[in-house]
Amino acid sequence: METVIPPAPPVLLPIAGSAATFPVRRVYCVGRNYADHAREMGHDPSREPPFFFQKNADNLLLPDKDFPYPPRSADVHHEVELVVALRRAGADIRAEEALDHVYGYAVGIDFTRRDLQAEAKKAGRPWTAAKAFEHSAPISALAPATAIGHPASGGIWLKVNGESRQQGDLAQMIWTVPEIVAELSRLFTLAPGDVIMTGTPAGVGAVMRGDIITCGVDGVASLSVKVV
Ligand code: MN
Repeated sequence: METVIPPAPPVLLPIAGSAATFPVRRVYCVGRNYADHAREMGHDPSREPPFFFQKNADNLLLPDKDFPYPPRSADVHHEVELVVALRRAGADIRAEEALDHVYGYAVGIDFTRRDLQAEAKKAGRPWTAAKAFEHSAPISALAPATAIGHPASGGIWLKVNGESRQQGDLAQMIWTVPEIVAELSRLFTLAPGDVIMTGTPAGVGAVMRGDIITCGVDGVASLSVKVV
């Protein structure tokens, strides 16, 4: 079919142990899904439940690529997160059935221009410029649930230049993965290819050019990214 401009290329995630790839549709993110991180950002998790925002599929940074420090910020923070990849469509999904919709899992980083986010929060404006910038979401290869199961606990960690910065456990999530899928499916019609970044534990902080960031979710995947 003739198109008047070139169509955008699909974003294809590698799959561990396979030559096949996972085409991405949407990227959803959960805000403040770990109580200790909500508190470090100045919020009371007992009064403010988690919520959703989005990045774009083409903001994903595939494995073995460097992270270019973005423009218009002097305070870019790392947030290590478990990433959930969906294989099946659905709306109003019940939490009891939500894991049937999951293809697999990865580890990712929700890089955030914290200075722009603070300005947006103060002005009551959207977080788009703080969150959905180029290459803002490094992601590992996907581990299929058929290979690793559905992790509900286990370490989630991030180091900068070998020094521990974030160390949490998936069991600390306020909304579990089935609850996240169920909640999200009440707001949006989910589809195969949607991925969800499930929030970060405490210890977020700034990165600088030259930093080597390593992170992982035990039993799922690990990832190494250089800031350039
Ligand atoms: Mn995040």
